[in-house]
Amino acid sequence: MTDQTSQDHLPIGRGIRGRCPRCGEGRLFKGFLSVRTACERCGLDYGFADAGDGPAVFAILFGGFVVVFAALITEVVYQPPYWVHAALWLPLVLIVTLGPLRPIKGLLIALQYHHKAAEGRLANRSET
Ligand SMILES: [Zn+2]
Repeated sequence: MTDQTSQDHLPIGRGIRGRCPRCGEGRLFKGFLSVRTACERCGLDYGFADAGDGPAVFAILFGGFVVVFAALITEVVYQPPYWVHAALWLPLVLIVTLGPLRPIKGLLIALQYHHKAAEGRLANRSET
């Protein structure tokens, strides 16, 4: 088991906390999900950062599993009226999808930086 300070060197912890993937100090986001143009501490250009639909996909998969599993268990065990399902699962959908969205986006951007992942480009053979 590693402690919190040793995990701070990993891009995973920096991404989940919404910090710069290079220095771990500057903030990555300026709004809920908007990425800043550059790090305020080390000046890393965030132009490379493009998580695309990745955070939404993981949030939907995670949230869908939690809510559907809970709804199925509730229906099988208690068989409540439909308004109880609506009152329970609509707020839970918002919590379990919007809650992890920002940490997931930070994590994906940190991993993108760590693995130097970028959009594919055609290489010019005469220049290499
Ligand atoms: Zn930085």
